[in-house]
Amino acid sequence: MSRKALILEELGLNPVWVRTAMLPELQIAVATSPAVPAIAPAAIARPQGLSPVAVAAHQALAPLVSTPKFTSLPVSPPANDPAEDERSKRIANMNWEELRNAVSSCTACPLCQNRQKNNEQTVFGTGPMQANIMVLGEAPDEDEEAQQTPFLGEAGRLLDNMLAAINEDKLVYKANILKCRTPNKRNPQAAEAEQCAPFLKRQIELLQPKSLFVVGRFALKTLLESDEPVSVLRERLHHYKQIPLIVSYNPSYLLRNLPDKSRAWRDLLRLKAALHSPLP
Ligand code: SF4
Repeated sequence: MSRKALILEELGLNPVWVRTAMLPELQIAVATSPAVPAIAPAAIARPQGLSPVAVAAHQALAPLVSTPKFTSLPVSPPANDPAEDERSKRIANMNWEELRNAVSSCTACPLCQNRQKNNEQTVFGTGPMQANIMVLGEAPDEDEEAQQTPFLGEAGRLLDNMLAAINEDKLVYKANILKCRTPNKRNPQAAEAEQCAPFLKRQIELLQPKSLFVVGRFALKTLLESDEPVSVLRERLHHYKQIPLIVSYNPSYLLRNLPDKSRAWRDLLRLKAALHSPLP
């Protein structure tokens, strides 16, 4: 079995399943949706690096990706607190090194107390500066803090395999919305995410990735003005400051919820389509 077939199998997919089950389902969905105009397959650009089966799936999904149904959501308005405005403005003018230094010495939210008490470090992010994809998770865990690298362990391997399945695993920058570890792997709190958001926004601005792949509901709430769940938001293509933004499930969640792996495959195809057929 080829490497790609093994990866697809790990995702809960295989070429036979895609050909015999997924495509008719997708084509029916496209054909019966009144909001979706018909698009001739020939008019849909074939993304590079996909197998014929994946290209066929991409073509079935392309009308969904291209319709006005997928709209940009507004960017969060700036905070009204003058001190916060001032801090955000300072961060918004930092270069990469200044930003990295500001993160490593940050005391803007209570997570810094844990960090200082346990002699831990911030996890800024890893990957090439010329990234095609910026993957955004939630907060580093213990191992990720120790190794200064987001997305490690089984979940990290799954993410890498997912990106490898669409041949997009090389130019990937990985980061989290929170740069400090949360105690006992608890979820990020709104106030923590709000304090850390200016760092992330400046990181995106400096990196200018071709696409954002946001995994998990806590990560996406930082960039999108919406309380809708991942299961709803992942059905649309969003934009953050003109950068296509695709929402998907967190790999840790996928490890516990195997049926959603096939939905994550659709998200990957949307990601691939957004990278190779940028929407206006
Ligand atoms: Fe600062 Fe972010 Fe760490 Fe909070 S999580 S202390 S805002 S770097």
